[in-house]
Order: sequence, then structure tokens, then C-alpha cells
Amino acid sequence: MSRTVFVNGEYLPEEEAKVSIFDRGFLFADGVYEVTSVIGGKLLDFAGHAKRLARSLSELEMDSPVTEDELLAIHRELVSVNEIDEGLVYLQITRGAADRDFAYPKDTAPTIVLFTQAKPGLRDNPAASVGLKVISIEDQRWARRDIKTVQLLYPSMGKMAAKKAGADDAWLVEDGHVTEGTSNNAYIVKGGKIITRELSSDILHGITRAAVLRFAKEAQMVVEERPFTIEEAKQADEAFITSASTFVMPVVSIDETPLGDGAPGPVARRLREIYLDESLKTAI
Ligand code: PMP
Repeated sequence: MSRTVFVNGEYLPEEEAKVSIFDRGFLFADGVYEVTSVIGGKLLDFAGHAKRLARSLSELEMDSPVTEDELLAIHRELVSVNEIDEGLVYLQITRGAADRDFAYPKDTAPTIVLFTQAKPGLRDNPAASVGLKVISIEDQRWARRDIKTVQLLYPSMGKMAAKKAGADDAWLVEDGHVTEGTSNNAYIVKGGKIITRELSSDILHGITRAAVLRFAKEAQMVVEERPFTIEEAKQADEAFITSASTFVMPVVSIDETPLGDGAPGPVARRLREIYLDESLKTAI
């Protein structure tokens, strides 16, 4: 069945949706995006995603073509018309179409595109009971990872390197320390303590990360925000990742070294449960 998508103010069948070849998102990766998950037809942490979107746009001196209320209405309409029970809403805003020039064009209307992806089983993802295998690779991305831009080629290469190695994902390492996963934030657990890199321009400020750390603290768990090495991670009791599309997902091995007993750990399992329960209470 053809999806209905949203392009520059119009709801259209996906086959009819078009963007210019001069779009700066296409030519320069001059655009930002957000992915919001849907469970039971409701959006998880929409306000968090809207806030980060506003920050990404502002860092790139780009204007939003819609208000936050309009954005919410578009998300809801797409979830509704496409009958999404479990899935994702992808949103992209670029600087728009202009004659090719490195300098930002003046008075160009931004391009806005949204589409849904149905993901039945997102909540009861079987991967959560098996856990992920990750490899470590050098972090070769640019230095403004706090801006959620559409330049995702290195993360894509990392995912392919993981696949070729028979793993599920890659953790990125810079100056000996893990920054994050290709498309998720990275955590280890040692002696009951949750350790994850502190916020800076080295990592994306995950919306799921913010929620999970808040829930962990509310549940009296100890959180330490600091960098950790791959060697420390391999000695950890357990590990996990977070993202809007995987929630909390256990990691069971790093570079083929099993963590703990090689099964998803209790902290990751508990945090996944808490995250889903709590986020669903405020889903809209
Ligand atoms: N880090 C990177 C590099 C990502 O691409 C993502 C997901 N977009 C995340 C972290 C997780 O962020 P969020 O929890 O907001 O999905």
C-alpha cells in the first residue's frame, strides 16, 4: 500500500512526492532530521524531538517552515492516515533549493519532508531478549555531532563494517574513548553503576538518553557521565544502547568479547521496561 507523505505543505501519495535536484539537502547534506517513535498510534517524547530540532536548525542558521504545533499536527495526521500502530515518523528539513554555491542562499524557502515507517514489533523487539553484538571502529565523523544533520555516510559505513564482521552495530572510538554507537548512545554498567559519555559536541544529545537517565535516577540507580574506553567496556558487567527506534537495547559482546554471561543484563532489561512504561504514559 502506498503511503501518504508530507512535502512542503502537501499530503501526497509517496509516488507523487518530489524534491528539487538543487535541494541543498541533496547537494550538501545541508539539512537536519528527527525520528520519533510511535507505539499504539501515539508519539513518544514528541516535545523532546521538537526541541532538539529547533536547536539543530538554529545552529545552522536555518528557519523552520512550521511551528511546533503544526509539526505535531502533521505527525499525527501521517500516523492516522497511514494507520501506524507501531513505527516511526521521519522528519527532514533542509535549507531548500538554490543554485549550487557553498555560501548559504538568501531568502530560500526550506524544504520539509515527513514520512512514516510501519515497524510492527517495535515494542516487543525480539533483539531485546538476545542482545546486540557490537564491534569498535575509529570515529571519523565531523566534530559537530550534537547537530542532527543528514550527513550519515560514516555511520552507514560503520553499520556495514559491523555486518561484514558478523555483528549488529559499531561503537565509535575517538582518542581511545567511546563516543557513541553509529545511530545510538552507548552505555556500560559496572557494579550497578551506569556509565555513559557526558554531553558535548562529540555526541548527539539523545532524546532517549535524556529520558533513560532521568528514569534511572528516579529509580535510585547511580549514573556516572564520563568517557570510557573499549577495554573498560569489555570488562563491564553489561552494556546497552539507546535510541528513539530501539529504546533501550542490550549489548552482549564487544569485538567478540562476551560481557558478563553473554546474555542481556538486568539493568538494561529493567531500564527498557521502565522507559517503555514511563514514555507511554506521556505519549501523545
Ligand atoms: N547518537 C546518534 C549518532 C544517533 O544517530 C542517534 C539516533 N538518531 C542517537 C545517538 C540517539 O538519539 P535519540 O535517542 O534521540 O534517537
